[in-house]
Amino acid sequence: SRQQRLVVVSNRVPLPNDGAGKAGGLTVALEGALKQSGGLWFGWSGETVEEPSDQAKVSQSGNITFAVLDLSQQDYDEYYAGFANRALWPVCHYRLDLVQIERQELEGYFRVNRAFAASLAPLLRPDDVIWVHDYHFIPLAAELRRLGFRNRIGFFLHIPWPPSDVASALPAYQQLLQGFGAYDLVGFHTPQDAENFQRCLVRENIGSPIGAGEHQIDGHKVRIGAFPVGIDTEGFARAAANAEQNSLVRRTTASMGNRDLIIGVDRLDYSKGLKQRIEAFSCFIRSNPDFRNRVTYLQITPKSRSDVPEYQQMQREIAEQAGWTNGSLGEVDWTPVRYVNRTIGHAALAGLYRMSRIGLVTPLRDGMNLVAKEFVAAQQPDDPGVLILSRFAGAAHELNGAILVNPYDTEACAAAIARALQMPREERRERWESMMGQLRVNTVDAWCQRFLSSLSGAPDHGPAAP
Ligand code: UDP
Repeated sequence: SRQQRLVVVSNRVPLPNDGAGKAGGLTVALEGALKQSGGLWFGWSGETVEEPSDQAKVSQSGNITFAVLDLSQQDYDEYYAGFANRALWPVCHYRLDLVQIERQELEGYFRVNRAFAASLAPLLRPDDVIWVHDYHFIPLAAELRRLGFRNRIGFFLHIPWPPSDVASALPAYQQLLQGFGAYDLVGFHTPQDAENFQRCLVRENIGSPIGAGEHQIDGHKVRIGAFPVGIDTEGFARAAANAEQNSLVRRTTASMGNRDLIIGVDRLDYSKGLKQRIEAFSCFIRSNPDFRNRVTYLQITPKSRSDVPEYQQMQREIAEQAGWTNGSLGEVDWTPVRYVNRTIGHAALAGLYRMSRIGLVTPLRDGMNLVAKEFVAAQQPDDPGVLILSRFAGAAHELNGAILVNPYDTEACAAAIARALQMPREERRERWESMMGQLRVNTVDAWCQRFLSSLSGAPDHGPAAP
């Protein structure tokens, strides 16, 4: 096992005895990792308080130390709800129409990163390996370096990185790019994201390539690469096989009659393409009237970021659209769309995936999309369902056995649904086998190990070149 301690930094920390934050792909992926290696997990407590302490609250669970900070309401509004979720998130998901740029929020973002670095500092040992996660903490390493830390620090971005013409709409674009120079390794989900990022560096004259996957930024060598995150494939398959006993799964099965189930599972986010997806389902029913009353589309959609205005508006729009669709297509004895704003636990989810004929995963843009992988892992090997997957999900780079679709093309998505429902078992098996083969190799554990071994092999973070 590793001698050096691993320190993970992420916005949300899944404290023991805390059910919150379970819906994010980030949390789900990391839980497996730290259990193995042990170490320190540092981040936000999830709480806002009047007068936050600058000393982290520390607790221990097995071989993992958790250290968390509270935020003031102002910090939360500016750093999290503001800059992270109204500037970085939309830009990285190619939604320049939704970007809100506020100087105050930008300052809050850098201020919170500086404060977090200062609070982490006394907890660090000189030989700790530090792994920083996601868009909330891009400048964190730069702040740690200012405090004199020379540790190996890696960064992984869980969301996409767009081409430079899009990325350059970020406020403080150059400062953010420069901040990446404080890391020894910067990882993305797909080669496309890594390539976009490297082009941004070159175009802004901030980094220059020095060999395969390495750039020189501010005199520092930074390794850049693609590390597609995986899931606990066997664990999910097992949970799915055992889910027949789950009471929610049993009730759902009973409620379906002889109808086929189509499932979608997404946080309620504008990146997920829910509007286009409901429209595609509705188009499928209208153009395939034989399927009326023979299929049900279940969309499980926990609400997310409801304090961000763009999300509130979308929540109303999607609910209205689901209602309209049922009103115009439905029958007294048939609800075409079951739209549920509830978080479902993994045990039941695995069973719902397994009883579905189609997994409908059609984000307009997604870093990876773990739901796509979970759906595949949950299928019954003999008689698997079909994954319909957006080409704009990171997962599309790995899951060649899916029916890949352009989520903006309503009729093509509707045709994909028709095709999937009629796909012969032989073809479904072949497609499933090829995807499952990939998922068995690239598990979440393999992902962690790949990232961490690349980080420990990355060039030393030496002093700036003369
Ligand atoms: N999830 C869940 N219950 C729900 C909805 C989602 O457990 O009701 C989980 C889902 O199983 C997956 C994660 O939340 O592990 C979502 O990750 P994904 O990469 O698909 O999207 P993100 O929410 O990170 O954008």
